[in-house]
Amino acid sequence: MGNILDGRKLAKIIFDGIRKDSDALKSKKINPTIAIIRVGNKKDDIAYERGILKNCEKAGINSKVIELPENIATEEFIKELYLLNKDSEIHGILIFRPLPKHLDENRIKHIISPLKDIDCMNPLNIAKIFEDDYSGFSPCTPAAVMEIIKDYKIDLVGKKTVVIGRSIVVGKPLSIMLLKENATVTICHSKTADLQTISSEADILIAAIGKARFVTEEYIKPGGIVIDVGINVDENGKLCGDVDFESILKKASLITPVPGGVGSVTTAILLRNAIIAAEPK
Ligand code: NAP
Repeated sequence: MGNILDGRKLAKIIFDGIRKDSDALKSKKINPTIAIIRVGNKKDDIAYERGILKNCEKAGINSKVIELPENIATEEFIKELYLLNKDSEIHGILIFRPLPKHLDENRIKHIISPLKDIDCMNPLNIAKIFEDDYSGFSPCTPAAVMEIIKDYKIDLVGKKTVVIGRSIVVGKPLSIMLLKENATVTICHSKTADLQTISSEADILIAAIGKARFVTEEYIKPGGIVIDVGINVDENGKLCGDVDFESILKKASLITPVPGGVGSVTTAILLRNAIIAAEPK
């Protein structure tokens, strides 16, 4: 199918680059290493962790899992985080989110070292994106979307680009990254009036909503480009995006699948950030 934006293919190219970079670092006696902080034993976290560990191995990156008890207090969590911040053998830190509600994520996100913040959790790294400064770590999912756009040579200049979703993890930073590339960006959310009309005028429509197959054919401009950030499980337990892929396939000129689209590239970006963190400063 000619109009599918293949995230897996792009992820493989990025992984091949990471492998070369990690080998180059090892020849300089630097062993790129990340620490994963997981609180409790949630099924989703364990599955995500398994995927990351497998990808780390493939990419030649060491990984260390710090498993903390579900009832850990914020102070204790922060002590662990300080230890990792100080540990010169740990280059990148990944904290699985969402954290349990009793933990003060607003404090924690300021404490993770901005230099080890491979998942772009620290507000300092997010703020840099809003200043068009890419010297910090880019948020992985927005960076994955931008990488797909770049890889498929999608022209953003002056294009009507609609982002549905305004979270600080995806929608907001992604909108700023698109704006930097001269797209004309409209950010939509749950209170947007007439979302369908706005979406159907988009040259490029990006869905980051968290609602299975929410975006249907009526939301799409004929020949428009559709990027689906959503990862949902439908009523039959099947993984799907925010976009009703099958119904849109014929109407859109290009579309990302779920799985095999943005999500595949996101993991590659995370590990590329780990390599950047390990590079000598
Ligand atoms: P989130 O924090 O829940 O934000 C969802 C956004 O969608 C909010 O801005 C919300 O608007 C908006 N929204 C919800 N219902 C809407 C509606 N009916 N109409 C218009 N807008 C609506 O979610 P997120 O963390 O940004 O994640 C979004 C999706 O991406 C999820 O499916 C998540 O699993 C997936 N995700 C994928 C990756 C990846 O690597 N592919 C990474 C992260 C997340 P309000 O602000 O008004 O509430």
